[in-house]
Amino acid sequence: MTIDLRSDTVTKPSKDMLDAMHQAPVGDDVFQEDPSINALEAFASTMFGKENALFCPSGTMTNQIAIRCHTQPGDEVICDELSHIYQYEGGGIASNSGASVKLLQGDRGRITASMVEAVIHNPDDIHKPLSRLVVLENTANRGGGSCYAFNDIIEIGTVARQHGLSFHIDGARLFNALVAKGETALQYGEAFDTISICLSKGLGAPVGSLLLGDAHFIKKARRIRKVFGGGMRQAGSLAAAGLYALQHNIERLDTDHAHAKAIEAMLKEKSFVKEVVPVETNIVIAECKPDFNLPGFISSMNDKGVLFFAISPTRFRMVTHLDIHADMINQLEDILKQYN
Ligand SMILES: *Cc1c(COP(=O)(O)O)cnc(C)c1O
Repeated sequence: MTIDLRSDTVTKPSKDMLDAMHQAPVGDDVFQEDPSINALEAFASTMFGKENALFCPSGTMTNQIAIRCHTQPGDEVICDELSHIYQYEGGGIASNSGASVKLLQGDRGRITASMVEAVIHNPDDIHKPLSRLVVLENTANRGGGSCYAFNDIIEIGTVARQHGLSFHIDGARLFNALVAKGETALQYGEAFDTISICLSKGLGAPVGSLLLGDAHFIKKARRIRKVFGGGMRQAGSLAAAGLYALQHNIERLDTDHAHAKAIEAMLKEKSFVKEVVPVETNIVIAECKPDFNLPGFISSMNDKGVLFFAISPTRFRMVTHLDIHADMINQLEDILKQYN
């Protein structure tokens, strides 16, 4: 049995999801005539209490469209140094929007209102870029799936608003945070100007992300999506998978979190593990002792069917998801017993 812990993007659509895709009516979404995409966008808008939503091929695209809509060339985007928008979107902030970035050193990917306030430039100082947008990530991927305290989000939003900055969230794994913290989508809809969510991570759809905001913003975003080459045509089958995921695969995320907690407990017992980043959701990051042969461990585990990889010379990551079942966690425990 293969136990694939590389990412929560390795899931396969379930039979019920495939049935929903098979039955989905389709039309041309560039004409806004795809009933399944329209239904998905309406469902998500209601869920978050936003006026409108836009279905896009990826979370990189929803984030990049948001940054483009919120900024003018030269404007500054404020985010944590570990952010996906900065680390893993190919320099898109610069190439797609011509914007500059102010990186903050947060705690496991999370920044605070005072950190944000300290770096907002005086708009009358003509030497400085105009601070224009604050972007948070929840859960924070490189923070090991860490979650914000909701009150910290409110405080950051207050600072952003006081200074006339927009407030966007990269919520690729927002539902993991909602389930872990007992929060609601409506709270996030109220706190942020714009929201990006991924259907293809923990929710288990094959593809797709949604960008949410007010009607004026989404109208602009729809234009930018076309410019970026993301205007899809008869893509309703993909949207049907996403709608199925939103309707069926949110509450079950607590199972993924319990599995990640179990893996954390196993790894803490290992003499070669220096520490495990506290597990809050579905991502486990372990730091190994410096003399440990991490590449050797990983290839030996891979040979036994346990797939994961190193994210630095001393760190590895394991991610749980809806295709990781309890029997796999038990098997993983047995396999790990073969190592100190
Ligand atoms: C996966 C991810 C995205 C979007 O990735 P795509 O592969 O482009 O869909 C954005 N932000 C975070 C934090 C992610 O983990």
